[in-house]
Amino acid sequence: MPDMTLEIVTAERVVYSEEIDFLVAPGSDGELGVLPRHAPLLTTLDPGEIRVTVGGEETYMFVSGGFLEVLGNRVTILANAAEQADEIDEERAEIALQRAQERIVSAPADMDLERALASMRRSAARLGVARRRRRARRGDQPPQ
Ligand code: ATP
Repeated sequence: MPDMTLEIVTAERVVYSEEIDFLVAPGSDGELGVLPRHAPLLTTLDPGEIRVTVGGEETYMFVSGGFLEVLGNRVTILANAAEQADEIDEERAEIALQRAQERIVSAPADMDLERALASMRRSAARLGVARRRRRARRGDQPPQ
């Protein structure tokens, strides 16, 4: 029986707000699992994948980094950007990844390496979430 609430919030919108059973998030010090009755916690997140389990079903989302707070049975994630898997524009993420990679390889004099690397991590993580969703869909409907 779910008895933990997860809210994923950006400056623009509430991306996700549900009762959940289990959560795995990309903590800056490594992958972080949160079960109900977890001790209070405040930590930073890296860009990556959020995995949520509700009633035995797994859902994947993208988070650009940010903060994760556990307080009571409420988990709050505050991020610059976050998307549910079916909100991710795969083509846009591919273009962003290519742009960042080309910038890093060509290394123009004005390149901000940290920024290019961060963009590359975000788009690679978005693609990971979007492709996982596609694979799961294919698995749901095997070819006849
Ligand atoms: P881009 O270079 O394509 O803008 P970005 O990594 O710089 O990518 P962010 O700064 O992380 O983009 O996000 C800006 C806004 O655009 C956020 O609202 C985010 O949710 C949205 N966004 C970015 N990329 C995608 C994508 N591939 N699919 C859906 N929404 C996206």
